[in-house]
Amino acid sequence: MLGTGWGAARVCRDLRVGGGGFGLDVVSPRNHMVFTPLLPQSVTGTLDPHAVTVPIREVQPRLRDPSNHYYTASALEVRPEERRVLCQGTAEGVGWSSTSCRGGNKFWLEYDRLVIATGAAGATFGVPGVENHAHFLRDMRDGQAIRRRLLQNIEASTLPTLTQEERRRLLSVVIVGGGPTGVELAGELVDFAVQDVKRLCLEASSLFSVTLVEAQQLVGGFDESLRRYVERSLMQSHVGVLKGVVKEVRENCVLLTDGSEVPYGTLVWSTGVGPTPFISGLPCEKHRGRLAVDGHLNVRGSPSKGKDGLEVPGEVYNDVFAIGDCAVDPNCAQGPLPPLAQVAEQQGAYVAARLNASSGSHYNAKGREFVYKHLGSMASMGSVGSVASLGGLKASESHWNLRGLTAWFMWRSAYVTRLGAWRNRLSAALNWCTASLFGRNLSRW
Ligand SMILES: Cc1cc2nc3c(=O)[nH]c(=O)nc-3n(C[C@H](O)[C@H](O)[C@H](O)COP(=O)(O)OP(=O)(O)OC[C@H]3O[C@@H](n4cnc5c(N)ncnc54)[C@H](O)[C@@H]3O)c2cc1C
Repeated sequence: MLGTGWGAARVCRDLRVGGGGFGLDVVSPRNHMVFTPLLPQSVTGTLDPHAVTVPIREVQPRLRDPSNHYYTASALEVRPEERRVLCQGTAEGVGWSSTSCRGGNKFWLEYDRLVIATGAAGATFGVPGVENHAHFLRDMRDGQAIRRRLLQNIEASTLPTLTQEERRRLLSVVIVGGGPTGVELAGELVDFAVQDVKRLCLEASSLFSVTLVEAQQLVGGFDESLRRYVERSLMQSHVGVLKGVVKEVRENCVLLTDGSEVPYGTLVWSTGVGPTPFISGLPCEKHRGRLAVDGHLNVRGSPSKGKDGLEVPGEVYNDVFAIGDCAVDPNCAQGPLPPLAQVAEQQGAYVAARLNASSGSHYNAKGREFVYKHLGSMASMGSVGSVASLGGLKASESHWNLRGLTAWFMWRSAYVTRLGAWRNRLSAALNWCTASLFGRNLSRW
């Protein structure tokens, strides 16, 4: 199993491990699954990181058995013909020298079945400076880095030597990308500024600002009426909504194609996803940078050129699955599925069921194809407003649209019931209560 995200965690949870079932090796640089829809709330400190993460060994308790393993490592290379994966240990502080470990930090793992669920990376569209200056919001490390930067800038803004202009810059947060993650983070930051920065540091709160930069429409996947509601709510809460395309990111400002400059103290880049170097390097067929899978979520070898110069499709690897953000079925009757947690999770359940139905080498490569069931889309901007759209995935299908308090209540109850373990549900509920009773904790370390 490569990865410990939404797709991988679901496979690990549902797979029959031990007791005559499978032996399981999990490879991932992080030993936990992150409940990504709640990540923006961990940035402002509404939720504690522990409320939003679930250790993979709790997801699959059989990983404690000596015959199964979780390896803190990244997969570097897959050789489907030889059924093995090259991995590299990623733990910091380990002496990887030849005297302290045998063979350095790289090792091969052999497999009978392989599931690739290594997710995606933040898309930069080749805009210069993004990698160097912007924060992505993909996992808990990113969330905590943004939080540290925010709190550091709030404290720095009170230093006596700064000009008013520099204070204003330090306290401006710019979010590039007006998808659900961008607007949720903007809403969270408004609550953070109004409820906590104002309470504890009036001086900083008067200069604190949030700006969203979006080339097209905010929350493009939602119906027109909900899109307008989101834009109106954000603007009423004094979030600057800028229509524009970013040309370059500099150390202290973002340059737009119309020539304007937007200064920032904290910059979050949230413009969708692109392939990771690991996925790009795999010897498999790709579709727009993602692994191309068939209806059974199996990958195919790279196409080659035949004697007549025509392209010959690669062999289908029935023992290699790819799920979640790193994969896409270009021929799916429902259209290419979007990079969503619900897609990854349902694909994980499908793969685990197929694997469980096989025994030893008697593996039925075929069976029913994967069918995605869309449960709806939601975005919560805290007290700024919330939207929910229940119905089919396609814009042409009918939807039941909700907004305001009803959508907010639905968002909270849906996510709190879906949080992995009871410990997470209780922690999240308690965090929400303490944040609303006593405010968020602005300590910086
Ligand atoms: C802030 C945010 C909010 C979101 N909100 C929603 C939402 O409300 N609803 C929704 O449906 N979706 C949401 N999403 C999208 C959703 O999180 C993704 O679609 C989902 O995480 C994809 O699952 P995955 O298993 O493919 O990858 P991920 O969950 O990203 O997991 C990838 C895993 O692979 C590991 N990994 C990476 N490289 C390697 C390697 N080389 N070798 C081994 N392991 C590797 C990573 O450490 C990680 O454990 C949100 C995403 C973000 C970032």
